[in-house]
Amino acid sequence: MKRVVVVGGGIAGVAAAAHLAPRTQVTLLEMESTLAYHTTGRSAATFLINYGGKGARPLAAASQSFYENPPPASTDSPLLSPRGALWIATRKQISHLESLAAAGRASGAGSVMVDAQEVRRIVPALDPAYVAGGLWETSARDIDVAGLHQAFVRIARRHEAEIRTGSPVVGIVTQGTGWSVRTHDAEIDCDVIINAAGAWGDRIATLAGVDPIGLVPMRRTAFMVPGDEAYSDWPLVVDVDEGFYFRPDGTQLLCSLAEEIPADPGDPRPNMEDVALAIDRINTATTLGIRTVNSQWTGLRTFVPDRDLVIGEDPTAPGFFWLVGQGGIGIMTSPGYGELIASQVLEDETPANLLEAGVDPGRTLPDRFRT
Ligand SMILES: Cc1cc2nc3c(=O)[nH]c(=O)nc-3n(C[C@H](O)[C@H](O)[C@H](O)COP(=O)(O)OP(=O)(O)OC[C@H]3O[C@@H](n4cnc5c(N)ncnc54)[C@H](O)[C@@H]3O)c2cc1C
Repeated sequence: MKRVVVVGGGIAGVAAAAHLAPRTQVTLLEMESTLAYHTTGRSAATFLINYGGKGARPLAAASQSFYENPPPASTDSPLLSPRGALWIATRKQISHLESLAAAGRASGAGSVMVDAQEVRRIVPALDPAYVAGGLWETSARDIDVAGLHQAFVRIARRHEAEIRTGSPVVGIVTQGTGWSVRTHDAEIDCDVIINAAGAWGDRIATLAGVDPIGLVPMRRTAFMVPGDEAYSDWPLVVDVDEGFYFRPDGTQLLCSLAEEIPADPGDPRPNMEDVALAIDRINTATTLGIRTVNSQWTGLRTFVPDRDLVIGEDPTAPGFFWLVGQGGIGIMTSPGYGELIASQVLEDETPANLLEAGVDPGRTLPDRFRT
């Protein structure tokens, strides 16, 4: 049985652990005292097929079967709930909806163009002087991120994976045909390392003597403002050029400027100027008149230059697998990429359900950084 060390206990690490634990001996190492402390615990929790790179979209589609039929006893409640997404455009932006609609139709998002009247029927608070049209996608859902993360942890533990928190990886050396991974209080020999360290992915590679691939963490802040129960059936509303978004969350509205600001790996804090700018843009597009903020947080969405996922063994370092570059889609695609990386580690054929969803494993390999 292969011995696998997974570095990182965010959604990527636990998705890999859950899919590998039934057939390998898995040890997951997380530097923080709790799992999902970094980006995974700070997302907007949306499943949106018409989003992300060409490698990611089929993985989102392939993930739907896990959400709809999670393995027995892995979760106590549904992982997805209805939401819908409404991309909106001003008169000047209206042509931008066309290309988004084409991408959505190609990805199976069920995208439908709607006029200004229909946009306002769906979200009456949108200002008729602002909105000229929209793109409506009923396939968008809210994700129970904590439930999904916990489902992966339960599956992994049920198959005897060991999950160690408070265990930062501080050294990695080759050991025979495999690796030896060092934390402050242990050395673990393994055949395979899965680098699921998010914003720290290049640092883990460097520790192992593997060249980095150019990961860039980007800050994004989200915040909650007072809402109303009457808003609860509104969809996610997104500016077509991603200048802002908002959606109901209980009796509050979750909002964001949807900004991307390069940052070092770490624990970023919100910049209130970004929050103020988002409020200004949302108030310009709506009649909401937002004045107060209940809470705010910032996370790092980490990209490689082509903004697609990186999944697979590094061609320069046998046994070193990358599972990084999740950017803004790492929650929704996690069942799909968990299954894909498990098939790669186990040297299985790519699972038929992934191929049927249009997944091309070659597209997301790290080989594209090694020419
Ligand atoms: C505001 C915002 C909104 C978002 N909205 C969505 C959304 O609606 N839908 C969606 O799908 N995605 C969304 N995302 C993106 C999503 O949250 C990420 O793609 C995903 O969480 C990345 O998961 P990860 O496991 O790669 O990273 P992380 O959750 O950051 O996990 C990496 C882990 O590695 C650990 N680690 C690092 N170095 C070491 C070390 N040396 N030793 C041990 N452990 C280490 C870290 O402590 C961390 O826990 C959003 C992100 C943000 C910030």
